[in-house]
Amino acid sequence: MTPNKEDYLKCIYEISQDSQKINNKQIAAKMQVSAPAVSEMIKKMLAEGLIDKNKRHGYRLTEKGLPLVSELYRKHRLIEVFLVDYLHYAIDEIHQEAEVLEHTVSAAFVDRLDKMLHYPRFCPHGGTIPKKGEQLKEIYHLPLKQVKQPGFYCVRRIHDDFLLLDYLAKHQLVLGQKVEITQIDDYAKTYTITYADHELTLPENIAAQLYVEEAARPQK
Ligand SMILES: [Zn+2]
Repeated sequence: MTPNKEDYLKCIYEISQDSQKINNKQIAAKMQVSAPAVSEMIKKMLAEGLIDKNKRHGYRLTEKGLPLVSELYRKHRLIEVFLVDYLHYAIDEIHQEAEVLEHTVSAAFVDRLDKMLHYPRFCPHGGTIPKKGEQLKEIYHLPLKQVKQPGFYCVRRIHDDFLLLDYLAKHQLVLGQKVEITQIDDYAKTYTITYADHELTLPENIAAQLYVEEAARPQK
């Protein structure tokens, strides 16, 4: 499936969350498309005023682009909740299905879905579902990678990526899991966590995709 404009908007939003300067190369790498394909789409999006460009940030979503992205996430994540709660999909199966559906369902459908699901706040990966017309603001936004102090944390959000979910499933690390960060190695850039009877040392690229929240020390 060739990615469309909506996929590009989400891609730019996601890169902007790491607060790096966004350029064509990053977009091409993340979307796995050719450089000419990116240039062509970027030109269209600039012309439509969905993104703008400046020296410091590279590409940025505009006032016009941001609400569109929020609505896309709302749609995608509501569909995910539906797939898990009503059709009993596993959490690592829903991404593909939601990617297809989000481009085809109408706004009215999404509003009805929202109501039927009782206005859920989070998708099955812990991503925040913005209310209709609201800007997306992730409630869980602290990546493990940015944690400076060892201690007790709870895994609240997992980046929606099949290989990552598969890896975490293998290690029985699930959403809502309380973990103890026992070691942060600034030189090797690794994060060692323990939970249940597991000990896992995570590299930086995985730690960037797991979001945690500080938790109380568990009672003995
Ligand atoms: Zn999700």
